[in-house]
Amino acid sequence: MSQIAQNLINLKKKVPDHIKIVAVSKTKPVSDIMEAYNAGHRIFGENRVQELLDKKDRMPADIEWHMIGHLQSNKVKFIVPFISMIHSIDSFKLLRAVDSEAQKTGRTIDCLLQFHIADEETKSGFSREEVEEMLRSNDFRKLERVNICGVMGMATFTGDMDKVRLEFRSLAGIFRELRKSYFSHSDDFREISMGMSGDYNVAIEEGTTMIRIGSIIFGERKH
Ligand SMILES: *Cc1c(COP(=O)(O)O)cnc(C)c1O
Repeated sequence: MSQIAQNLINLKKKVPDHIKIVAVSKTKPVSDIMEAYNAGHRIFGENRVQELLDKKDRMPADIEWHMIGHLQSNKVKFIVPFISMIHSIDSFKLLRAVDSEAQKTGRTIDCLLQFHIADEETKSGFSREEVEEMLRSNDFRKLERVNICGVMGMATFTGDMDKVRLEFRSLAGIFRELRKSYFSHSDDFREISMGMSGDYNVAIEEGTTMIRIGSIIFGERKH
């Protein structure tokens, strides 16, 4: 069995069945993705549009591709025809761009609202106030082709797992508040995308529903 297949099996043993694993294949070659595919995995995450497009064309059509990285509005049109979920909605402008491209293709796009829960300024995402302002606005109500399925966040890059835990806990709290106040009529608002190779255990304890795992499956990245 390939190392990647073995890594996947080991990981799946440690993760409860109801939690989705997004295999983050960024920077890794198509041959690696194919090994995970042949081991039965179908959900893959990429963080760059061009890389995603290149890989998608060379991989089987039944893969669910997830966009997990910062996305520019002018690139939305390239991924809307096929993307399964966008985890990284970090502005109303971007959400509107997704809606407008989705109109053209007749699709409805599953989206997560990315929150800034870490200390690092380099990590993007909404604040809670920004999201509430958006959700209350008339312009938001006009959107027809985006399906808001939950929230996403990245913890601070640190070995301090108590800090990471508090950040995940705050995201799970935001999720519950939003569900209660704005999405109580939506069965689709149910995902919390948090947890990566270094902190997925903590994320599981704090209620994640989707973990995004790269290094544990594919090995360390060189860049
Ligand atoms: C790279 C990346 C991951 C996966 O990181 P690993 O530590 O390799 O598991 C998860 N989420 C996002 C947004 C990423 O960019």
